[in-house]
Amino acid sequence: MAIWNLGSINIDVVYRVPHLPAPGETLAATEVTRGLGGKGANMSVAAARAAGRVAHIGAVGADGGWTVDRLMEYGVDVRHIARLTGETGHAIIAVDGAGENNIILYTGANSHLDSDMIGAALSSADRGDTLLMQNETNGQAEAAQMASQLGLKVVYAAAPFDADAVRVVMPYLDMLVLNAVEAAQLSDALGAELDDLHISQIVVTRGAEGCDHYDNIHKTRQHYPSVKVDAVDTTGAGDTFTGYLVAGLDRDLPIAQAIELAMTAGAIMVTRHGTADVIPDLKDIEDFKR
Ligand code: ATP
Repeated sequence: MAIWNLGSINIDVVYRVPHLPAPGETLAATEVTRGLGGKGANMSVAAARAAGRVAHIGAVGADGGWTVDRLMEYGVDVRHIARLTGETGHAIIAVDGAGENNIILYTGANSHLDSDMIGAALSSADRGDTLLMQNETNGQAEAAQMASQLGLKVVYAAAPFDADAVRVVMPYLDMLVLNAVEAAQLSDALGAELDDLHISQIVVTRGAEGCDHYDNIHKTRQHYPSVKVDAVDTTGAGDTFTGYLVAGLDRDLPIAQAIELAMTAGAIMVTRHGTADVIPDLKDIEDFKR
């Protein structure tokens, strides 16, 4: 089976600063790093590191060729990433000494995906494959509808959260993954509890408290306590969790096992600084369990 990830690709430019800039202030950064980011790219890397077969569907601008190369080095199939003119999506991130940050996000090529291209990619998928999406690209509704017609499983990570975006894809979803804050926002927006939604499976991640799995077909809810670690940087934990979860399910692991694997990957991730480049692989997971 394979995972088709319709997702964002960003260039994360991280500036270390003595304090976060005030309005009108000019501030010298002490360090700058440029890395691969975006929820979509993070999830593709995580799923590939979890031994999933992943094809990324996305777009970069003229300045983003290296991000595609990086994804390829991580074992992601990049044949369905369009190269557009204009800017690759990017995040300008300022981080102060206490780890506080502010972020300017420019979606760039991520909001200019061509629906014919998405369609062409999905039409080469097999029944039983998985379409994974997050809310950082255009084309989600058409992709969800098409994938569902083709017999793919559709998994949606509702981040960055937008209730309307969830509403649009909801009829096609087999699984929804969201964090506790997003789950509360969704319940509020829909005026319904998660176990009343017509989505077969919902996973709510709760940071250091682990996660909950709702099986809305059998009307059960299972809590999974987290793996205990000392967290230093929670960036990318959710993306790592979701990539691992989807890869585990795509490899036919039972849900409990896929969740345990995803939680272990998420826990290792919070012990590391950085995002895509430090997502653990299966060997890291084995070493961690020893
Ligand atoms: P982010 O937006 O920071 O990437 P998120 O809010 O989407 O994350 P979380 O719920 O914070 O997602 O984390 C996803 C999963 O990672 C959790 O369900 C848990 O299994 C694991 N995890 C996250 N933080 C911790 C922690 N401090 N200790 C252990 N496990 C953690």
